[in-house]
Amino acid sequence: MRLPRFEFLKPVSLEESLTLLEKSGRKAKVLAGGTDLLVNMKYGVLRPETVISVKGIPELSSISAGMNGNTEIGACVTLTDLAGNSLIAGKFPAFQGAVRSVASKHIRNMASIGGNICLDTRCWYYNQSKLWRDARELCHRTGGKVCHAIKGSTRCHAINSSDTAPALIALDAKIAVMKKGQKRLIPAKEFYRDDGIRHTSLEPGEMVTSIQLPEGNGNSQSIFIKVSTRKGIDFATGSIAAHATVNDKGVSGIRLVLGSISSAPILLDKTSQVIMESGLTEKSIEKAAETARSELGTLTNLFTSAGYKRHLVEVLVRRALSELKEKIGRARK
Ligand SMILES: Cc1cc2nc3c(=O)[nH]c(=O)nc-3n(C[C@H](O)[C@H](O)[C@H](O)COP(=O)(O)OP(=O)(O)OC[C@H]3O[C@@H](n4cnc5c(N)ncnc54)[C@H](O)[C@@H]3O)c2cc1C
Ligand code: SF4
Repeated sequence: MRLPRFEFLKPVSLEESLTLLEKSGRKAKVLAGGTDLLVNMKYGVLRPETVISVKGIPELSSISAGMNGNTEIGACVTLTDLAGNSLIAGKFPAFQGAVRSVASKHIRNMASIGGNICLDTRCWYYNQSKLWRDARELCHRTGGKVCHAIKGSTRCHAINSSDTAPALIALDAKIAVMKKGQKRLIPAKEFYRDDGIRHTSLEPGEMVTSIQLPEGNGNSQSIFIKVSTRKGIDFATGSIAAHATVNDKGVSGIRLVLGSISSAPILLDKTSQVIMESGLTEKSIEKAAETARSELGTLTNLFTSAGYKRHLVEVLVRRALSELKEKIGRARK
């Protein structure tokens, strides 16, 4: 498979990148590590006229502890650098676990955190060669009017498979986004849209510049669990990130986020409410796992049966809460 023809631009600063992005608008794609974009271009599912490589831009390539206690991670920091960073290990071990679970070491050497959170959504009928796709009618994602995954659907249900997305939402991270002359700070949970085609809230000309993780306090614990068919180099069949804050009385706040199940990560509010009302006990964990099953609503683009996915979610919630309970117990001793 060969890359199609495109214009390649290599700005040397953030300012120049934003100028080029503004000029090119929707015709351009940002390139970081290229481990997702170049594969999609080779498959012919993405055909940007212009590719703007932001890899190595100094303003986007560092990890720093801010004055306000936030940790700021530049969009082009590689997953390998994050996986080995001691500041991240000390403050955000679950996020680091999510980073380490992405693909393989050689892919993480190239891949950036910005590329991971903007990772294109995936579908069995889309992430295929042109020859394979040509055997079927075009779907919504490729310019047609049907969906092969969900018959009769009027929209695309491709899946968000980013491993770090649920972890960032659970940690209440913010995504810094810039376009020429403008900067926005978007809570990670609002960054994603439940739409297989426009799956992030990025506007034309905008790019992610950094991720801001809030200062955790000593009274919080987090977990990330990923389930995939193969242990190495595989996208998740489902994942969960959980974050709990505790005080003398017990759990004072909890966020549970599912990944790789739908077009956007799913925040399990009702399930978290069970723990807020009854605390982290064996009984409440069982009730929370049952609640998660029903909170999922209609499951769509699955690759597996809906029954299996519901069971998987129940298991993920039970495991995440049990591990959180254990971690909180250990920290109290
Ligand atoms: C074999 C294989 C296995 C994989 N397994 C996993 C896995 O287990 N888990 C997982 O999460 N991913 C996986 N991936 C996908 C991919 O490698 C990672 O998600 C990686 O982190 C993408 O980062 P990148 O820098 O290479 O992104 P790129 O390919 O450079 O970009 C990805 C997308 O993000 C956009 N983008 C990049 N940077 C920015 C920015 N700063 N602002 C705005 N848009 C931006 C690009 O335009 C593109 O649409 C796998 C890929 C392969 C080939
Ligand atoms: S979910 Fe449907 S519309 Fe989207 S890529 Fe798959 S087949 Fe196409």
